[in-house]
This record gives sequence, C-alpha cells and structure tokens, in this order.
Amino acid sequence: HVATTEETTDERKHRLVEDSVRYVWRHGVSTDSTRRAQGPIAVRASGVQVEDIDGNVYLDALAGGSAAATLGHGREDVADRVASQIRTMQWVSLRTFINEPSIELAKRIAEVAPGDLTTSFFVCDGSEAVESATQLVKSYHRQRGNPGKTKFLYRKTGYHGTTLVGASASSSSEFRTWFAPLAPGFVELDACYTYRRPSGMTEEEYGEACAQAIEDEILRQGPETVAGILAEAIPAALVLTPPPNYLRRLREICDKYDILWIDDEVFIGVGRTGTYFGSEHYGVVPDVITVSKGITGGYVPLGAAIASQRVMDVLIADGGTGQAKVSGHTYSAHPVACAAGLAVLDAIRDEKLVDNVRDQGEWLLAQLRAWGRTNPHVGDVRGKGFLIGIELVRDKETREPFPAEWGVGGKVSKAGMRNLFMCRATGDVVTLFPALVATHDDVRAMFDGVTKAIEEALGELPE
Ligand code: PMP
Repeated sequence: HVATTEETTDERKHRLVEDSVRYVWRHGVSTDSTRRAQGPIAVRASGVQVEDIDGNVYLDALAGGSAAATLGHGREDVADRVASQIRTMQWVSLRTFINEPSIELAKRIAEVAPGDLTTSFFVCDGSEAVESATQLVKSYHRQRGNPGKTKFLYRKTGYHGTTLVGASASSSSEFRTWFAPLAPGFVELDACYTYRRPSGMTEEEYGEACAQAIEDEILRQGPETVAGILAEAIPAALVLTPPPNYLRRLREICDKYDILWIDDEVFIGVGRTGTYFGSEHYGVVPDVITVSKGITGGYVPLGAAIASQRVMDVLIADGGTGQAKVSGHTYSAHPVACAAGLAVLDAIRDEKLVDNVRDQGEWLLAQLRAWGRTNPHVGDVRGKGFLIGIELVRDKETREPFPAEWGVGGKVSKAGMRNLFMCRATGDVVTLFPALVATHDDVRAMFDGVTKAIEEALGELPE
C-alpha cells in the first residue's frame, strides 16, 4: 500500500492496523482479534504525554509503557548528542577498536554505582544484560577453580527477560510451557512478598524466614553447585519492597557460600526508586548489577552488566580466560547508544532528577495511601520513588484476593486508557512508574488518573 494525500485518518488507521496484523509480530498478543483490538496507534510523544493517530493525548505514568523513557519523550539534548555521534562515528566493533563514548559512559556508571561496582559489559537490552551477567558469574567460578558452581537461584513472580536464560529465570508459566525445554540449572525460590506474609509474623521475622529459605535451598542443592542468585533489589512487576533485613541476610548468605548476587536493576536502576540503584536503599552491595531501559532513557537500546572490582580481579587474573575473552556482540558498547547514555546521565545529574523522584514519589505515595485508607478494596500501597504499586483485594481485613477470572487489574488499565491515562497492572497490583522528570503537577494529574481508573473498574465488578 502506498499512502496517498487523499487518505483520511480513518483509512490510514485501518490500513495500519491491517498491515500490523499481517506484517508485525507484536508481543503480548496472539490471535488475530487481539492483535486488531490491542492498543491505539501512537504517532508522537513529548514530555510525559503520548499522542495517538486520532489526536488523543495520553498522560504517561509508565515512562513509555515499559519504564524505559525515564527522561520523558522528545528531548532535544539527547537527540543532538545521538545525531552528533552518528555523524562523527556511528559504529566500529569493540573487537577491533575501543571507543570514547563507551569508556566515558562506563566511568560515569562506576561513579554513581554503589561499592566497588566498576566495570561495565555493554550489550543491547535487558535480557542480554542478564544473560551476560550469568556468563560472567560462571566464568568467575571457573577461573577460581570451581567449575561445578553453575546453578542459579531465582524467585517466583520475578521477570528477567525472554532469552533462554532470562526465560529460565522467570517464573511465568507461559514461558515454561511454550519455551520448554528451558535451560537446566535454574532453581525457583519463593518470592519475598511482605504483604502476603503469614499472619502473626512481623516484617523482620518474615525477612529472616525468606532469607533462611534461600540458605536451606542452597544446602539442599549443594553449595558447591550454586553459582549465583538472580534477584531484583525491589521486584518491579508486583513492587515487592522487601523487609529491611532481607537483602542484608541474602548478602551474608551469598558471602558464606561464595555465591554471587546478580541484582537485576533493568527496571528499577538509574534513578527510578529515588536512588541511582535500588539496592542502595538497603545498604547492601551486589556483585553484579544489570541495567538497561533507564540507562539511555529509551532513546537508543543499551544494556549493561556492571561487575564489582572483586569479581573483575578474578576474571582478569592470569590473562582472564573466561567469558570476557570469548563473549561479546557485534553491537557491544555501541558508540551511539553510549552517547545517549551520557546525555541521560548528564541530565539526571544536572537536573537533580534523583532528588525529584524521591520528593515527588514520597508525595504521591502518601496521597495514594491516604486515599487507599478510604477505599474498601485497596489492600496495600507500597513503593519507592517512582515505582508504586496499589494492590487491590476483595476483602481488606482478610487480604482475600479478587477471583483471578474477574481480571480486576486488567479492567483498571483499560479504564485508564479510556480516560487517556496510562497505568499498568500485574494481576491485581496496579503499578505506576513515570518518567524521572515528572513534575509536581504531573504527579498530581497521575494521582487523579489512577484513582479514577481504579474507582471506575471497581464500579464494573459483579458485586
Ligand atoms: N529484567 C527485568 C527486571 C526487566 O524488567 C526486564 C524487562 N521488563 C528484563 C530483565 C528484560 O529486558 P528486555 O525487555 O530489555 O530484554
């Protein structure tokens, strides 16, 4: 099809939807009818607003939909930096040359990363960052003379990507069905889900019990077989802020058995939680942090596994015979992506965006908590910075969930879209994760948007 100037908006829309069904394999939708029904056609975006083909303007409380657009949309400073890098030198292979933007970006990441996390292995997205991190960890153990340490622990409800390793470390039953057989050596642990802890237990006791369950599993598997644990400091999908002692105990257990902690911060890293990295809230330093999304604000794809100096010292000892020597992608440390990363880190620093997230996030969380107390179906409001979850329940007293088949969370995000407001739900946990640049007026509007969407969806329920 060739668009002609006479084409009306409706004709163009129809053509795009039909072509999209035929030619684009979109994710998250399977049948012809869901592919046709899913989502408006976005045509432009600016700040915290996305405009569709009909001229509807949506308030974006999801940083583009999957948390990547952390600087908001349409930034000239990033566009200029990216364009300038393309004109100067778009790409040369890291196998042949080192390039300046990647060195500068890695150095800047080391400055803002906690502890001795110093060295970035650059890839293209979050799944690759996770996969690379597991390779790095296996290489670490091999280099130390422990090649039997190859297993990884991961937690229920977690998500670590769609490549074979990411899928094998994600508890999605759909992945486990459709992508079987998954990679061997991935062992599932329970989530640390504070709101759903056994009654009568304090948060502290629950944190201790969850950590103890990790140690018990390590002993069951045999510590000589366990390489690492993949665990987000704050699991983003359900916004599972952990009890304060949990990650500290996890750190101790990892040290006790020489197991490396990969803190997957693809979602929460680079400012989202009101600190550069989520683990900083708990005073613990991981061995490897994975990032993507926010590192380039969604302008150009980039991911990284950031390793500690302690791990790197092992990896490069005796010439480093491990993963760093054998692995790498054509687009590793892509200069254009790294230039975008530098523009993003400059903006975060110069505009004090981490402070903005902390202040505005605290305000939004407090407002939502106060409103939630008056709503009989708001069971829990939790989060840090610009990562906020609202758990809806049938019965607030007993914390009984709604029947899954009611799809309450899904109704909320649909009601939001009807009202030109973007929010997400995982199960019945409604989530907000706006751009770090959201102003006080923006978060005020987001409060209105999400409470209206929830109230509307609750009004549609059978009882
Ligand atoms: N890990 C986490 C925690 C994520 O949230 C995601 C993406 N939502 C991934 C890994 C995978 O990243 P990508 O989609 O870029 O492959």
